[in-house]
Amino acid sequence: APAPPPAWHLFSNSAEVEALRRNLLAWYDRCKRDLPWRTLVRGDMENPALLSAVWVSEIMLQQTQVATVIDYYNRWMQKWPTLQALAQASLEEVNELWAGLGYYSRGKRLQEAARKVVSELAGQMPRTAENLQKLLPGVGRYTAGAIASISYGQATGVVDGNVIRVLCRLRCIGADSSSPAVIEQLWDMANALVDRSRPGDFNQALMELGATVCVPKAPLCGECPVKQHCQAWHRKLFGKPPPVPDVEDCGVGDCPLCPPATEPWDSSLGVTNFPRKAAKKPPRAMRTATCVLERRGCHAAAEYLIVQRPSSGLLAGLWEFPSLPLAQDLQEEKEREELADHLQAWMGRPVAAKGLQFIGEVIHIFSHIHQTYVVYSLHLDGDVTLDPALSPSRWVTEDEFHASAVSTAMKKV
Ligand code: SF4
Repeated sequence: APAPPPAWHLFSNSAEVEALRRNLLAWYDRCKRDLPWRTLVRGDMENPALLSAVWVSEIMLQQTQVATVIDYYNRWMQKWPTLQALAQASLEEVNELWAGLGYYSRGKRLQEAARKVVSELAGQMPRTAENLQKLLPGVGRYTAGAIASISYGQATGVVDGNVIRVLCRLRCIGADSSSPAVIEQLWDMANALVDRSRPGDFNQALMELGATVCVPKAPLCGECPVKQHCQAWHRKLFGKPPPVPDVEDCGVGDCPLCPPATEPWDSSLGVTNFPRKAAKKPPRAMRTATCVLERRGCHAAAEYLIVQRPSSGLLAGLWEFPSLPLAQDLQEEKEREELADHLQAWMGRPVAAKGLQFIGEVIHIFSHIHQTYVVYSLHLDGDVTLDPALSPSRWVTEDEFHASAVSTAMKKV
């Protein structure tokens, strides 16, 4: 078994842990942001709307900024205030409301999980982090810890991007913070640190600190409520780590939590020496031809054809203009021909490649894909019969398009 990390990286002094909890919670009580899900959560935790509020907000906040989430959250809670209401929603409705929030499988899994709670668990949410993670689709370790601590007062920690940054700075952890060994160590720390009487508030306070004070690029250390417990801050001020027992074990040789010897402390970076991540793989480049097919509908209003994506994979179940992934380095003429063949299958009649008007290119970055949409348009005369054997499709006006479950990328197109 690997040796335990040196005391310098841990919270091994119980008086210090108590002081850190006290300082952080006092700051949170004074300074926390007034967010819609927090207003609800102050009430009776047996209220089904509160459970839904915690769960929905935690899922939406994964990978998405608070400012973006607020509007989506309010609309969602207005439409489905309880898990029972959400369990009765259709996936199409969920996708429509989620459109633009990204990482679409989150909404789908949330609704599947609500159905499971209602139909298989007699409407009762599991109450511990272990059971939440085990029983509910889409509920990972972080979400389980957040729901269990905030809704049910379980003294269990959480680790998200904000917590990683704060803990790595508090304890000068400079080993790759995305590596499983470091992540595991951070979970142990979060579980040890969490306040026993106010676990939900403590977890939210730690995340709030990362979101508003201990921010990635220019942290506000002078205003930080836990700066006296922060090893990175101490090191920035005094140029060396604070003296604690076992410190001589660190930074020499093979400490599993210190920065690698090839990347020593850079004094120009100060506390932002931490955390460190191994370089990410560059996103995969993809090209997709897409065609905005337009016809005149009722009262000569323009209508556009949208088709539904498969029910699994990227952007599952969302609607888009007919699109075709392209091989890289294809000549423009060949791209057009392939798109024309693809459209021909939809419309059941010949489409001349030359009739496709090139509009431009749209770039959209998904988390792991650098997607270029090559956009064409085609105006149709007369009616078109679509092949019902192909994916679901429909004609929509511009307003209907914006109200449909379409991705941000398609809105750009
Ligand atoms: Fe973060 Fe600075 Fe506070 Fe340390 S002192 S936790 S680096 S804001």
